[in-house]
Amino acid sequence: MLNSNELKEKLFSKQGTPFLGAKQDDETVYDFCNHYMTFLDKGKTEREAALTAVEFLSQKGFTEFVPGTCYRKGEKVYWFNHKKSVLAAVIGSEPFENGFLVVAAHIDSPRLDVKPRPLYEEASLAFLKTHYYGGVKKYQWTAIPLSMHGTVILSDGSEVILNIGEDENDPVLYITDLLPHLARKSQGNKTMPEIITGEQLNVLLGSIPVEDVDKDAVKLNILRLLNEKYGMTEDDLISAEIEIVPAFHARYAGLDRSFVAAYGQDDRVCGYTAMRALTELENPSKTCLLVLADKEEIGSIGNTGLSSDMLRHFISMLCSPHEVAPEVVMIHSKCLSADVNVAYDPNFPEVYEKRNSAFMNCGPILSKYTGQGGKSTSNDASAEMIGEIRRAFDSESIPWQIAELGKVDEGGGGTVARFISLLGIDTIDIGVGILSMHSPYELASCHDVYALYRALRCFYSKL
Ligand code: MN
Ligand code: MN
Repeated sequence: MLNSNELKEKLFSKQGTPFLGAKQDDETVYDFCNHYMTFLDKGKTEREAALTAVEFLSQKGFTEFVPGTCYRKGEKVYWFNHKKSVLAAVIGSEPFENGFLVVAAHIDSPRLDVKPRPLYEEASLAFLKTHYYGGVKKYQWTAIPLSMHGTVILSDGSEVILNIGEDENDPVLYITDLLPHLARKSQGNKTMPEIITGEQLNVLLGSIPVEDVDKDAVKLNILRLLNEKYGMTEDDLISAEIEIVPAFHARYAGLDRSFVAAYGQDDRVCGYTAMRALTELENPSKTCLLVLADKEEIGSIGNTGLSSDMLRHFISMLCSPHEVAPEVVMIHSKCLSADVNVAYDPNFPEVYEKRNSAFMNCGPILSKYTGQGGKSTSNDASAEMIGEIRRAFDSESIPWQIAELGKVDEGGGGTVARFISLLGIDTIDIGVGILSMHSPYELASCHDVYALYRALRCFYSKL
């Protein structure tokens, strides 16, 4: 007969208890996070993150995927898809028909994209027009240091890579805001989306004119500088993808250094942890796949986003030399859709349903479903899938929690899970909790980052 404490221990859930499971030693966690932060600083755009991932995979013995090749047990390959997404595989010992294990994360983050005809001068100041990408609170992008990253295709077809504002010796870029002294009526009476509008997100480039020019002399000087350094003209900005991102570098936050503060942790935290987990696999039984997708923040569109057929194509191309039907592989496959989730923030209790919220330091968050309203646009993972994942994580004492994204009808969001499940692949969402998600400087818990890495490694080796 159990006493009441033993009964409690046996029957009550321990969900939402910080640092549950095998607490990892700080040295291991912080060594991992140091590498993670280097990855964040090297890859602030989808192109940079994809290239950094390809370099990392190459160092770890992965070779470039060659369609038509019959890859066998132990071989490691990556497909660099249109320079913006990466798919990688480690071939397992089991037959392909047993299914693959897929982890999919995204490497694009909310930002400001430069418009095709961006440059103008007003009141002797030169500016760049932008069009925001993804869900941003526009007012957060003013009065902070910004950097410019991009690819420009010149008229002769050659490519120029831009990266201005990251090096300590570079200047940073800037978007102005209104002083409080004059903002009482103009901003004070407006709602949040209108405080700063999309057409006010104009990046200040400079103020020094070229001498003896009567019109647009500052704009001309900016073009002169770009031309001297990169050989560019104004028309070259048409065939360009230039992204404005925060110039902050990743830092530890909190007096106890419990957080990583950085731009773009949604969702490079899952991208990096998944990549580490995949590259550390030794002779997996199932074939293990990694997807680092682009365009999630704007609906997974395009040929580098996961609503395209890129994952289906990759699986088909791996299967066809083995004369295995990819459909059979897909219906037996399992996927962790690895994307960040919201952590409970006591400053804003009104948007959470506390009993189904995720908390910092309680491990990666499983979400059965995401979506909006009555779960629309979500993938709804099965009890069987959750049961299997739960058993695997518990067998290695990996902390984890299950949660919803905020109160019912409060808002919501989607992930790539719904596109992957369309292939017949059993899919569930997982990711670390973030504070200030989609802001220029997001927070994640160091212990949660490491626990997610353990969870993904466990998925690849145990499912
Ligand atoms: Mn995300
Ligand atoms: Mn997001």
